[in-house]
Amino acid sequence: MSAGFNLDDAIRKVPDFPKPGILFYDITSVLAKPDAFRYCVDSMVKLYKGADLDAVAAIESRGFLFAAPLADRLGIPLVLVRKKGKLPGKTLSRSYNLEYGTAEIEIHEADIPKGGKVLLVDDLIATGGTLRAAADIFVQGGAVPVGVFGVIGLPFLHYEEALKGLEVRTLIEYFGE
Ligand code: AMP
Repeated sequence: MSAGFNLDDAIRKVPDFPKPGILFYDITSVLAKPDAFRYCVDSMVKLYKGADLDAVAAIESRGFLFAAPLADRLGIPLVLVRKKGKLPGKTLSRSYNLEYGTAEIEIHEADIPKGGKVLLVDDLIATGGTLRAAADIFVQGGAVPVGVFGVIGLPFLHYEEALKGLEVRTLIEYFGE
């Protein structure tokens, strides 16, 4: 974290949301503070400028908010990973477990860069299940997922295990509730 800027202060923490026992790390409070949002995007650009990447993948929906400015600043394609039923074209999909509940995501097959290196971006990495499922779809589609980024990481939920083989980077980590 750069001197004089405290990202932790900008992240709203909401206990027992969306259900009892979950501490929800809310990034709407980051987006509402221009200096905090700019700090996040600038930090991502510093991490990945010059990296050998062919596309940035954005996880619906909060991942979109961070992946889009990164793809723009790096000048590479942005590929959306959406909840099932949102994409109109031919898709590849995967079901997976969340920290709370289950879900299914999909990607337009035509948008997957064949043989290309992909960075996957979300707002927060909890179990890593969402990013793992997205990475698996890219592999199925012929791309090479090389890394994942989350503004926030919760390493006590062991995402490193789910994301083995991928370089994991975060801007801030929390170690329990
Ligand atoms: P996971 O697949 O377990 O890594 O879950 C990651 C997804 O769920 C991300 O898209 C997060 O936005 C959301 N998520 C999971 N746990 C939390 C949490 N404690 N606070 C905020 N968002 C969360």
